[in-house]
Amino acid sequence: MNNKPKNGLFVAVVFSGPAGMAAASALNDAGVSVKVFDELKEFGGMLAYGLPEFRLPLKKIRDSIDAAKKMGIIFEQKKITSVKKLLKEFGGGFDFVVLALGAGLGLKTGAAGEDNDKVIDALVFLLNDKFEGKAMLKKGEEVAVVGGGNSAIDAARVAVKQGAKVTIIYRRTEKEMPAFGDELAKAKNEGVEFEFLRSPLNYSDSEGGKRIMVSCAEMILAGEDESGRARPIETGREISLVFDKVLLAIGQKPDFKWLESEGILVENKIIMINSHYATTLKSVYACGDSITGAKTIAEATRTGLGAAREIIEAMRKGKEKDAK
Ligand SMILES: Cc1cc2nc3c(=O)[nH]c(=O)nc-3n(C[C@H](O)[C@H](O)[C@H](O)COP(=O)(O)OP(=O)(O)OC[C@H]3O[C@@H](n4cnc5c(N)ncnc54)[C@H](O)[C@@H]3O)c2cc1C
Repeated sequence: MNNKPKNGLFVAVVFSGPAGMAAASALNDAGVSVKVFDELKEFGGMLAYGLPEFRLPLKKIRDSIDAAKKMGIIFEQKKITSVKKLLKEFGGGFDFVVLALGAGLGLKTGAAGEDNDKVIDALVFLLNDKFEGKAMLKKGEEVAVVGGGNSAIDAARVAVKQGAKVTIIYRRTEKEMPAFGDELAKAKNEGVEFEFLRSPLNYSDSEGGKRIMVSCAEMILAGEDESGRARPIETGREISLVFDKVLLAIGQKPDFKWLESEGILVENKIIMINSHYATTLKSVYACGDSITGAKTIAEATRTGLGAAREIIEAMRKGKEKDAK
């Protein structure tokens, strides 16, 4: 148990991924009373539900949450639908709120037929596998994973473990894949195949609705896009591939809808903060994927610590002002 005296300040950390946990630990160490909320039945954010069991066992996450509880951090499983209601100013119990929402909504490209029930969000697929032990694929099924990042590789490797024959469809080449190289190598060793320079245009029923056809534009790389990566452009030719299921892993965005009415500015799918991690709503700070877009654990941790540092500084200034 952390027996440091508490300083009378209460902070709500909304939610429990690496950004929220970094902020919670730093604030707790500074003598602040911290409560961490998350809507999921396991705490730990993407580490608990996104990263497959064989990469990061749930037991390890549970152990780190237990250690945080022993240090005095309180956890509550709850879906938060209003930040304002948490703040003292609006009748809640907290002096500050740290928003660490993550990026938990799977993106869609808008291709026709993406709502076909054989097209599955990779995050939903991964969560079912890890939390529920539920295989959404049958042994021997042919499965396409669309995307080239860590979530695509993880979805592909879990699909292989569920007994599927897996092909990753990616619109650039292997060289441009944002996934970590060692994870990509493992996927290849496990038998994952690749269709590079293909971009799905539409999904439609095949074989009387038993399978799904993915019609893809054939791409070439030409010049650079805004991110400095090779720009894929359509050649005008199409290729059709048929699978049993498709896992969509083209990126994630935060679920922000509920923030709009709260005076918290969101632009280009990220929460707007100033150089002190403060949002446009007083006493509310933000960190993690929700201010950077989907990035990494290290980046989420760095920004979580940054938000905590700024709250501690605001608290110190507040005390100095009161003393004058
Ligand atoms: C499949 C996958 C594999 C990855 N692999 C790696 C890797 O190997 N290395 C690496 O560095 N990065 C990896 N990443 C990225 C990394 O996981 C994220 O960058 C990191 O977890 C972001 O941390 P965060 O705290 O911002 O958000 P998250 O970890 O996403 O946590 C946010 C939490 O907020 C909760 N939440 C959201 N809305 C609400 C609400 N309204 N009420 C209550 N709770 C809510 C969610 O349930 C979630 O638990 C991977 C990502 C994915 C998807």
